[in-house]
Amino acid sequence: MNPQPSQNPFARAQPPRTGEVDVLVVGAGPTGLTAACEALRHGLSVRIIDRKQGRSTHSKALVTHARTLEVFETMGVADAMLAGGVPFAALNAHGGPRRRATRVDLLELPWGDTAYPFWLSIPQDATELVLEDHLNSLGGVVEWGTSLDEVRDGEDHVEALVTRNGETERVSTRWLVGCDGGRSRVRDQVGLRLTRRDAGATFILADVKSTVPITQNEGYAYLDPQGLLLVVPMPEPERWRIIAHVPTPAKESQLTVDAAFLDELIRQRSGMEFGSHDVKWTSQFNLNHGLANHFRSGRVFLAGDAAHIHSPVGGQGLNTGVQDAHNLLWKLAAVDRLDSPEAAERLLDSYEAERRDTARRMVTGVARMTAALTTRRSSIRRALGRLAPRILARPAVQAKLGRTAGMLDLAYSSGPLATAPGAGRRLPNPELPGGGRLYDELSPAGWSWVVWGRPGEARPDLEAPRWHGIPVVFLADELLAPATAAMPDGKRVALVRPDRYIAARGSSPESIGRAEYAGAVASAHC
Ligand SMILES: Cc1cc2nc3c(=O)[nH]c(=O)nc-3n(C[C@H](O)[C@H](O)[C@H](O)COP(=O)(O)OP(=O)(O)OC[C@H]3O[C@@H](n4cnc5c(N)ncnc54)[C@H](O)[C@@H]3O)c2cc1C
Repeated sequence: MNPQPSQNPFARAQPPRTGEVDVLVVGAGPTGLTAACEALRHGLSVRIIDRKQGRSTHSKALVTHARTLEVFETMGVADAMLAGGVPFAALNAHGGPRRRATRVDLLELPWGDTAYPFWLSIPQDATELVLEDHLNSLGGVVEWGTSLDEVRDGEDHVEALVTRNGETERVSTRWLVGCDGGRSRVRDQVGLRLTRRDAGATFILADVKSTVPITQNEGYAYLDPQGLLLVVPMPEPERWRIIAHVPTPAKESQLTVDAAFLDELIRQRSGMEFGSHDVKWTSQFNLNHGLANHFRSGRVFLAGDAAHIHSPVGGQGLNTGVQDAHNLLWKLAAVDRLDSPEAAERLLDSYEAERRDTARRMVTGVARMTAALTTRRSSIRRALGRLAPRILARPAVQAKLGRTAGMLDLAYSSGPLATAPGAGRRLPNPELPGGGRLYDELSPAGWSWVVWGRPGEARPDLEAPRWHGIPVVFLADELLAPATAAMPDGKRVALVRPDRYIAARGSSPESIGRAEYAGAVASAHC
């Protein structure tokens, strides 16, 4: 379905370019790579720099969630991600070596309308490889070995000083996106703050092969009084990620995480003879949490770990960073088309309003969960071991491991774009009677109208100018039941943002276009 030529009353011609590049992305981790790919997809010129000499080979983040896979689908890389990963089929939760497990079949959870009803286990280095290859295929290239030193935020552009091989270059950019991780220099340079809270818990990690005959694509959680142990499947056959809380940690220099150490720890907490070998990567770290006081300072934005730090136990850090970049880049592309400076500011501010609120909830939730799982009091750990498998057996709790952990029910219910009841929710993605899913019908990088009606109802005239050049998808009522249920009677038109969130609802496009700020943005941006 091709967008009609714009008949847009709100748009203005592209303004003259003031910087050498539209977007400078600092940091080529998963967030920065996503930001650079998204900049190109939305028609912006981009440079991406990273002070490392090349891509990391550490497996770090392992779980990619359903909503992130939907983002990857929009970007055109979901199939490559699926090929590099393995769906996590079940979670077996034990209270200790001799206790019965509760098995949660993750593939059978009530996932609803997503094309990705699973947790995908894919190491972060594989995710970054897919993203960097994709960036290259779009004509972008990471400038490795290039570090950002200084940032000066001006009225119509940002000056950045970057260094490569001892030589300094002054880069002039219209927007700068700081995706430079938890110790972000961009954040410091523009005077934003992130206070780290030490969660007081030490963990060890190891990627290891095993001889034990446990089911390959299932995960195992042991809530043992000696500490939490997670055994997580990796895509490589017989390889597992071991994650263990060490309640009374030795100093890092005194702890040798090798096969013998892992076998002893796993035996004590699970009773398994793990037969660890080929230990590929190990790490020992203290958990930290934190949230930047702002995600925006003028023309500079923070995304990913630069904006929020999570405990890896929640498995949400990479996912949140990718979704930050996805949220921000279409707005940077759209903002030039808006006629009034106030409308542009409002759109830019919506990034922080939407993503900081999301990250705040995420950081708080994960911090609470981590505190419960890593309490220093062994009596509480023992009680947790007894209770957790029973709690996990409850369907309502299991459901949270699906849509909630998968970030499918995440909604932007506040902020400058949430102007209508029911707006801010992710558009459901039901299967269509003729095959495929609703998202296949939407504009690939722009806005869409979704209109639903009962059989026999008159279809709207798709050529009419009142649709502002935005493609229209017409659907039968029952297919969008989850969305329509929350919608006031008679409002059968939804305006859908480029990131697949519902921007506004109304009874007609005119009502949205006239009354809604989102309608003006969409009309200008299409
Ligand atoms: C052991 C472990 C397990 C984890 N497990 C999970 C999980 O299962 N699921 C999940 O979602 N998350 C997980 N996480 C978190 C996840 O790894 C991070 O959230 C993710 O890497 C953040 O991506 P990012 O791109 O924002 O930052 P980073 O990956 O930190 O990338 C920042 C980049 O910026 C570069 N940089 C820094 N300063 C500069 C500068 N001045 N100039 C130029 N470049 C600079 C760095 O070299 C780096 O490449 C885990 C983390 C760890 C450590």
